[in-house]
Amino acid sequence: MGGDSVRSRLFNRWSHAMRPLLFTCPKTKQQAPAGIETDFETLRAAWSETLKVSCPLCGGVHNISVRETYIYGALNDALDRHPVPLG
Ligand SMILES: [Zn+2]
Repeated sequence: MGGDSVRSRLFNRWSHAMRPLLFTCPKTKQQAPAGIETDFETLRAAWSETLKVSCPLCGGVHNISVRETYIYGALNDALDRHPVPLG
């Protein structure tokens, strides 16, 4: 049992992990969790879709384009590489 195999297993698990999807509430302009967990592949496949999200900030329901959402922890990584067109 080597430490390396444990480490790589943890790494693989993280890279395929479902992450909380975030959106920006149009009323409060604050970031909020959409109550959905997803991964990059799912998000990319649904890029042109619209989500109906119950907003925990203002209590309303928003129609949010998937391209206006982002995965927690992913935004800074993406911005480091290239600008992300939001909206
Ligand atoms: Zn809201």
